[in-house]
Amino acid sequence: MSANAKAKEKGWKDVPIGGLILEAGSSEKYETGDWRTYRPVWDQDKCKHCMICWIYCPDSCILVREGKMIGIDYEHCKGCGICAHECPAKCIDMRLETELQAEGAAAGAGAGSASGATSGGEAGGK
Ligand code: SF4
Ligand code: SF4
Repeated sequence: MSANAKAKEKGWKDVPIGGLILEAGSSEKYETGDWRTYRPVWDQDKCKHCMICWIYCPDSCILVREGKMIGIDYEHCKGCGICAHECPAKCIDMRLETELQAEGAAAGAGAGSASGATSGGEAGGK
């Protein structure tokens, strides 16, 4: 089927109206981590598990299990830096994505992905 024929399949009445949320709970599928310029890098050893970052994160990206921080959800973290600013232990460092990706590429395969979904181990447990 040609592109022209495909375009004729839908009329304007078939196109969803913009600005409508058609499915409940769909925001999780929108991976806002793609926007990020800076990545919060968490130092697990310095973390006091005070959960201040969890309170302040506007995108619910601080991953928690059994009352302890276990990482950061990089698929949704926009890199705003609020967690790093508020952390009393100063154990979150905002690093440029481009630098981290260059370091990852230099280290080669298997040395830690620059675009991994989480930091600090297991995912989930929000
Ligand atoms: S604010 Fe800092 S010390 Fe507290 S849980 Fe978050 S990373 Fe850990
Ligand atoms: S930088 Fe920190 S506060 Fe901002 S979205 Fe990412 S985890 Fe949340």
